[in-house]
Amino acid sequence: MEYQDLAKKDFQYLWHPFTQMSDFTSCPPLIIERGEGIYLIDTQGNRYIDGVSSLWVNLHGHRRPEIDQAIEDQLDKIAHSTMLGMANVPAVLLAERLVEKTPENLTRVFFSDNGSTAMEIALKIAYQYWTNKGVSGKTRFVSLKNAYHGDTLGAVSVGGIDLFHSIYRPLLFPAYHAPSPYCYRCPLDKSYPACALACLEELEKMVESHRDEVIAIVSESAVQGAAGMIVMPQGYMRGLREIADKYGVPLILDEVAMGFGRTGKMWACEHEKAWPDIMALSKGITNGYLPLAATLTTEEIYSSFLGDYTKTFYHGHSYTGNPLACAAALANLEIFDRDKTLEQLPPKIQLLSQWLEKFQELSHVGDTRQKGLVAGIELVKDKATKEPYPREETVGFQVIYKARDKGVAIRPLGDVIVIMPPLVIPEGELDRLMEVIYECVKVVTEG
Ligand SMILES: *Cc1c(COP(=O)(O)O)cnc(C)c1O
Repeated sequence: MEYQDLAKKDFQYLWHPFTQMSDFTSCPPLIIERGEGIYLIDTQGNRYIDGVSSLWVNLHGHRRPEIDQAIEDQLDKIAHSTMLGMANVPAVLLAERLVEKTPENLTRVFFSDNGSTAMEIALKIAYQYWTNKGVSGKTRFVSLKNAYHGDTLGAVSVGGIDLFHSIYRPLLFPAYHAPSPYCYRCPLDKSYPACALACLEELEKMVESHRDEVIAIVSESAVQGAAGMIVMPQGYMRGLREIADKYGVPLILDEVAMGFGRTGKMWACEHEKAWPDIMALSKGITNGYLPLAATLTTEEIYSSFLGDYTKTFYHGHSYTGNPLACAAALANLEIFDRDKTLEQLPPKIQLLSQWLEKFQELSHVGDTRQKGLVAGIELVKDKATKEPYPREETVGFQVIYKARDKGVAIRPLGDVIVIMPPLVIPEGELDRLMEVIYECVKVVTEG
């Protein structure tokens, strides 16, 4: 079908996520037809570096023969069967692999199909863990301002991005939101490291004063992604673990975005050995092939659900443990071992950080933040005062539309330009990606 016809039907029938549709129609849509390694190819044959890994899901590139094959092989057997009361071969094997690969204290895997559900499950498990133990009054989570845990209402309740979440507040359960560890715009007006992690102290006070009420501490791991790649300062994650231990509450870590090698280690919690009691995984789990998610727990939490029917975890989804998705995930994990993906990352991480230093010279780059192969570049109207651009200027979008014309597909978070390429991006292409973004930021912000 011709591009023009598809574009017309896109405008006519589709409702795009996180998109003001009345603006959307003012710009010709990008319609992807194929993928090849780190490239997206549109219906007109234009190639784009997939600079945000198809919204943070792709690790090893598109059309990986091993994963294509694993799905085909599974398709020859069965596409789907239920996990309610029975298992399937890839789900069993994947659960074993995930337990082997994740922190040692995590021993059980509950499957679902996206990051939001992985977090809903984490929240429900944590809540019911206490009721199963016969402890009452545990009704509040402590989570963070600027948190993003997905778009379902439980995940939104512990979320803390006002632009996305405040409209739903009347529908949500209340949660305590501790200050965001956003050093560039510190909510406590302090600066790191002189602050001695004062934001963490605030969180501790919250847990302490509500200790009988607190179900769990909930946080993204190492980086608050959707809020603009806010990298937690050194010691913050360790501090979360210590507070959880001190007050005897579980720590729920959302590794949906930062898991699977993004930050240079397999799990972002590894950097500070902040092992969670419950961990949510999704995005990278199938290399972006099929929807799948997993919530892992400790044996202690799992075993609190054993016994009579009142302790059962009454939760499941039609596609829980989908065999095609689990087969893709198994092949995806094998690639890490075979290609030594993580061992290849240090020079790329180094190159990215050199580029970010160069960006800091630009007159409208307020802050650059990096964790591994993930980065955010925060554009500001006034570098001295950190004054943001007015929202209606949509500076972030101007940059990405310019980059699109130069063969780079990226997606901003407000005025933060996000860089999150597939882990396999060669250094040459990473260089090109950064060069294009550099030029586009310069042209858009400096004219
Ligand atoms: C994307 C994301 C989610 C939600 O995952 P979906 O698959 O989009 O529902 C949850 N937590 C974090 C940290 C994320 O980045």
